[in-house]
Amino acid sequence: MNLGRDLLARLAGAERGPGGLNAFLSLAERLPPADTTGGGRLHGVPVAVKDNIVTLDLPTTCASRVLAGYRSPYEATVVRRLRSAGGWVVGKTNLDEFGMGSSTENSAFGPVRNPHDLERVPGGSSGGSAAAVAAGYVPMALGSDTGGSIRQPAALCGVVGIKPTYGRVSRYGLVAYASSLDQVGTFGRSVRDAATLLEVISGHDHRDATSADVPVPAFGSAGDRGVRGLVVGVPVEYFPEALDAGIRERAEAALAALEAAGAVLRPVSLPSTGLAIPCFYVIAPAEASSNLARYDGARFGHRSTGVDVAEMYERTRAVLGAEVKRRIVLGTYVLSAGYHEEYYRTAQRVRARIRGEFHRVFSDGVDVLFAPTTPEPAFRLGERTGDPLRMYRSDVFTVTANLAGIPAISVPIGRVRGLPVGGQVLAPWWHEERMIEVAAEIERRLEHDP
Ligand code: GLN
Repeated sequence: MNLGRDLLARLAGAERGPGGLNAFLSLAERLPPADTTGGGRLHGVPVAVKDNIVTLDLPTTCASRVLAGYRSPYEATVVRRLRSAGGWVVGKTNLDEFGMGSSTENSAFGPVRNPHDLERVPGGSSGGSAAAVAAGYVPMALGSDTGGSIRQPAALCGVVGIKPTYGRVSRYGLVAYASSLDQVGTFGRSVRDAATLLEVISGHDHRDATSADVPVPAFGSAGDRGVRGLVVGVPVEYFPEALDAGIRERAEAALAALEAAGAVLRPVSLPSTGLAIPCFYVIAPAEASSNLARYDGARFGHRSTGVDVAEMYERTRAVLGAEVKRRIVLGTYVLSAGYHEEYYRTAQRVRARIRGEFHRVFSDGVDVLFAPTTPEPAFRLGERTGDPLRMYRSDVFTVTANLAGIPAISVPIGRVRGLPVGGQVLAPWWHEERMIEVAAEIERRLEHDP
C-alpha cells in the first residue's frame, strides 16, 4: 500500500515540522494490511484516533506528561470495531490534557493550529482530530465529547462532528474525564462519513456498564430522505442578543434552507440554558477529581522520586498541567463536606431540570432542535489562555447535550470573516438518524454558500 506509506511520510514531514498543525502525537508504525480483498465498511480507510482512546500498537498519552509514552495493555472497543471493519489507525491525535479545554492549548505537547488560519485555535478538546480531517489528512477521525469536545472543534475547523446519545457507544478504553458526560463520537468531511464511522463503532458492549443494548440503525445510509414535515425547534436561549452577528446570519440561512426543504420552524424555550455552564463546571470537575486520582505514580505512567510515598505522589502529580490541577482542586472543593450540598447537589438538580426541559419540547411535537454550535468563529492562539472563565464560555451551546445525554451533530453552515462556523442539530435520546437527516439537508443546501 503505497498510499499508506505516502500518507505517513506526509504526516511525518509537513504536519509535525515547524509551521505544521501538530495534530498528531504519534503515527502508525505499521502500514495497513496489504490485501484489498477483505471487504468491510472502512476497508483501507485511514482513521485518526484521539489520544485518550487506548490502542495496543501506539502510545496513549492524553496529551499529559503523566502518561508520556504510556502503552495500554488492551484496546478500546471502538478501536477494535473500526479495525474489524477494515479501518487503519494512522495515528493518535493531539488534545487538551485529558480532554480539559476548548482550544487544544492545554496539551502538554504544544497546541494544534487551525488549518484555516495557523494563528488560530482549532477548538478543543479534540482539536487534533478536527484539524486532521479539515486538512485532508484523513477522511474521518474519532474524538470524545464531554461538553462539546467534538462539536466545537468540528465547527471551528469546518468539518462534521457527532456526539451520540450517552450509552450509544462503548466507553471501554476511553480514558475517563467525567464519566457521566463522556461519549466517544466521530468526525468526517461529510455527514455521511461521520455517520458511517458512527455506525461502525456503535452498539452494546458488556465491558461498559453504561452501554445500552439498543439496535443500531444504518446511520451511514440515513440522510437521503429529506426533512419535509419535520418540526425544527429554534430555542430562543441559543440566539441571545449578544450572539456574533455573522454566526446569527449563517444560522438563519441554515434555518431558511430547512424551511425551503419543507421543514416547519417553531420557536421554543429552554429556560435553564443559562445555568448550563456553571452546572457543567461543577459536575465535570467533581467527576474528574475522582477519575484522576489514579495518576499517582503507583501503578502506571510517570513516577517521580521522593523520600517517602507521600512525597512520591506529590511530585508525580506536580507534572499535571495547570488546567488539570485547577479542575482537581475545584472538583475536590465542590465535593467536600460542608460544600457538597451547596454546589454538587445544586448542580445535579439543575442538570435534572435541563434534561426535563429537553424532554418537554421533544414530547411537545418538536422533532429536532437547531442552534449555532459556537458563539464565535475560531479565536487566536493565546487569546483566552489567561482567562479560564472566558474559555469555559466557548461551550455555552454544547454542554447542554452532554448534561441531558441527548445526541447532537455539528455541520458546517458557511464562513464568518473567512472562518468556518457550524450549526448544531440536537435530537431526542436514540434519534441520531433524524439529526443526521437534518444535517445532510443543511449540507446539501449550504454547500455553495460562502
Ligand atoms: N471544554 C469543556 C471542558 O473543558 C469540555 C471538553 C470536552 O468535551 N472534553 O471541560
